Amino acid sequence: MIIDAHVHVGDLRRPDMMGRAPVTWENLLARLDEEGIDKAIVLPIVHSPEGIQFPFWWSPQPDMVGQITAAARYPDRLIRFGNLDPRMGGNTARTDYGWVLERLVEMGCVGIGEITANVPFDDPRVINMVRQCGAWQLPVLFHGTGMGEGEYGLQDEVGSPRLARLLEAAPDAILIGHGPGFWAEIAGGLTLEAKSGYPRGPVAEEGSLVRLLRTYPHLYADISAGSGHNALTRDPAFGVRFLHEFQDRLLFGTDVCFGEAEGRMPHLPLLRRLLAEGQITQAIFDKVTAGNVLRLLTRYHG
Ligand SMILES: [Zn+2]
Repeated sequence: MIIDAHVHVGDLRRPDMMGRAPVTWENLLARLDEEGIDKAIVLPIVHSPEGIQFPFWWSPQPDMVGQITAAARYPDRLIRFGNLDPRMGGNTARTDYGWVLERLVEMGCVGIGEITANVPFDDPRVINMVRQCGAWQLPVLFHGTGMGEGEYGLQDEVGSPRLARLLEAAPDAILIGHGPGFWAEIAGGLTLEAKSGYPRGPVAEEGSLVRLLRTYPHLYADISAGSGHNALTRDPAFGVRFLHEFQDRLLFGTDVCFGEAEGRMPHLPLLRRLLAEGQITQAIFDKVTAGNVLRLLTRYHG
């Protein structure tokens, strides 16, 4: 069993990339078949305007309910997540998400994400939303970034103090991190600018991500996208040690954003190569590619 824990369906092209192909339900399923992936978690990303490029609105299902309903046509292959924005329901830290969470669960959603709102991790509105997801046993997958203009995703300073405060404030929620601001913190000595990017080179000192994973058992990490791949490969020996230490907390995902073959991602080939070379065991491979995510999704019975 292999599960891609991070996929999107729709037109994620920027207006200057219209030569590329959108992700459709059909080409998503064809990709899964060709790559030997059994199931994928579909993350609707339509809630926060920061995370959306304009062509998306012309996709066949440019709304969360449409995406969930479309994913439900493939219950053997696609796992449904709902999504929220911490500013919903009146832009207050007192929003009661119970009504919407109840309906998302009725629609078969087993988690929430990807959160792309560009507000700080420790904003009271984020804490309120995440706590309620935790009470409903819905893991929350987020995109992390640095502070500053021109980004999407939950914001933090260098060293992740705001993410640490959210983890302290929501001990009963499962949080799954992803994105440049999250993964750049695998190494210390970051600048704020590097935090929102793809810093290269050896990991001379462990970063806040390593400390947070050791401190907070309810924090998980999704290795998808360029950010996760860069973090695991910038210092290959460190990446393998990281896979060993956190073998129970890492989730394979791709974040494939385009439909053509060039849009495919290198994460599964990387894990397969490390397995073939004996750098990770079959047990680690199985946990990262399926076992961990199945354990987290307590509402999933597929
Ligand atoms: Zn994504």
